[in-house]
Order: sequence, then structure tokens, then C-alpha cells
Amino acid sequence: MKSGPMIRGRLAPSPTGAQHVGNARTYLAAWLSSRAQGGEVVLRIEDIDSPRIKVGATSLALEDLSWLGLDWDGEMVVQSKRLNHYRQALDFLLERELAYPCTCTRSEVQQLASAPHEDLGELVYPGTCSGRKSSSLKELVGKPHCLRFRTPRTPMTFNDGFHNWVTLNPGEAGGDFAIWRASPGPESLSEMPAYQLAVVVDDASQGVTEVIRGEDLIPSTPRQILLYQNLNLQVPAFTHIPLVVGPDGRRLAKRHGDTRLHSLRDKGVKAEALLGLLAWSCGWLEKPAPVQAKDLIPVFKIQSIPREPFVLRQKHLEDLGYSL
Ligand code: GLU
Ligand code: ZN
Repeated sequence: MKSGPMIRGRLAPSPTGAQHVGNARTYLAAWLSSRAQGGEVVLRIEDIDSPRIKVGATSLALEDLSWLGLDWDGEMVVQSKRLNHYRQALDFLLERELAYPCTCTRSEVQQLASAPHEDLGELVYPGTCSGRKSSSLKELVGKPHCLRFRTPRTPMTFNDGFHNWVTLNPGEAGGDFAIWRASPGPESLSEMPAYQLAVVVDDASQGVTEVIRGEDLIPSTPRQILLYQNLNLQVPAFTHIPLVVGPDGRRLAKRHGDTRLHSLRDKGVKAEALLGLLAWSCGWLEKPAPVQAKDLIPVFKIQSIPREPFVLRQKHLEDLGYSL
């Protein structure tokens, strides 16, 4: 165990659906990394993506984590109860003209956007509304708009705990990104912070020092670093690990069959058996033999994780006594 400043990691499930085998692998790595350094782990429920939130998904996620043996320290934090904090951060950015209101519709953005950055598959906001001052918000009462962060068009480099140095130009990867989502309501600002803002405000206020998450979030990291810097907050260390994919190479999803953790549980799969498979897929065990999460603490090593995504095959699940 290393000594030094306290490490604090986090688990941040989104209750937009049930947690699946891919989520479990990421949570396991995040939890192990912190525990292996004698650190803490905090839990946050990311439930502000309101139209996509599923009733009951939060309690299922908590059961999934307990089943996996991934515990957390302190009270769990729920984003929907923290709207005033996001609002304060937004006001701070607006006062400094670091954000501006955008009234573009999705199809307007699509028409004007330059070709998306090949790897990122995301449209680049063309900057149509960037001439607006934040004070123009007053005039937009009743008109749907979002708020965008003025994003520099310069490459940024961060030190990733798995990939080492990652360089990305957030101006090319999406451009001025939304920090507050479109507000259809009559008020000038309905309470809809966007993921990028909420995650930064929360990781900072929960004292998170290391963020370990899926590689799909790499394009978000330069944006989040910009928000940390402009909100005068301490930037955590970032580590992005490869995802679990189906045999077709695409990110694990419904089309690959039912890999939801509660379904595995209901069919009698033992958490230890799944943990063994995941630990083997990460290079921490030579064979996928049953194991408890805490017994992996001494063998955890982020760099043992293969560079390629883990291809979850039917056979892997059958070996757990589960059929897709
Ligand atoms: N809540 C996000 C998810 O479940 C994770 C966001 C993050 O790790 O920053 O995909
Ligand atoms: Zn616009």
C-alpha cells in the first residue's frame, strides 16, 4: 500500500437502464484501483438525464454493486438533489462570459456542422450563436435554448492512467459544448444541467482524486478539464479503460442479448464467477476462476488490462451457467 495523499475514487452509475457486464468491469477497476492504494470510493447516482431515467434503476444499481461486493464510503450523492450547485457553477461561468445561450435546433446544428471528427462521430457545433452575450439570456424567456461553453480551438493534452499522454482538440471534438440543456419550459432556464457540468461540480465537491471510466468518455475529458480550470477546481487524475464489446465489436448493448447484472443474478449466476471472468479479462487472473472483489486487491494492476476491448462471447456466459 502506498502512503501519501488520500486517494478517492468513485462509482457513478446512470440509472438510465440496468447495469450490465460492461459496467461491472469498469466499476470493478475503479473500485480496485482506489482500494489497492488504501483509498476511498464514493458513490454518485447520475440521474439528471431525466427523459431517459428508468424507475427502479437506482435501487437495482445499488443491489448490483452490493452483489459484486463493491462497497463505498459515506453517503451516496444523487445529482437530482444538487441542482443548486450546478446552477451556481453555471452562473459563475455566465458572469465571466465563458458560456452563452444557443437557440439552434438539432437540425440547424446538423446542417451547419463541419464533418465530425472521424473517430469521435460527434457533430462540431458551428458557433452560430457564439456572438451572444450571456446577458442576452433575458431576451430568451420562452424560447428554447441551451447554454454552451466557449471552447478553445487548441489541442489539449492530459496524462491518462492507462493510455499515457492523450492529445485531443476539444474545438474539433464537438466544439462549444452544452453545459445546460435545452429548456422547453416557459422559464428562461429550466433546471437541466448537462452531464459535462454536473460531473465536474460533483467530482470536485466529493473530493474525487481519480476518475476511472470507460474509454468512450475520452472525448469528454478535455472538456471537463476546461471546466475544472475555469471554475478554479482541482483536476482529478483520469484513467480510461477499454470497454466490453459484443462479438460484432460494438459496445455491449441489448442486441448482444441480456447481459444485465440483475438478469444474471436472477438466473443464479454467482457474483464470484462473474468477477472471475472479469478479472481474467483484465489480466489479473490466469483463469476465469471464482473470486471475490476484495481478493483481487493485491493482484490489481491497471496496466495488465489488454489494450483491446474485451469481446464477451456466449461461451463466456455459458461457463458461468448462463445462456443468452
Ligand atoms: N454516469 C456515467 C455512465 O454511467 C459515467 C460518467 C463518468 O464516469 O464520468 O456512463
Ligand atoms: Zn446556436
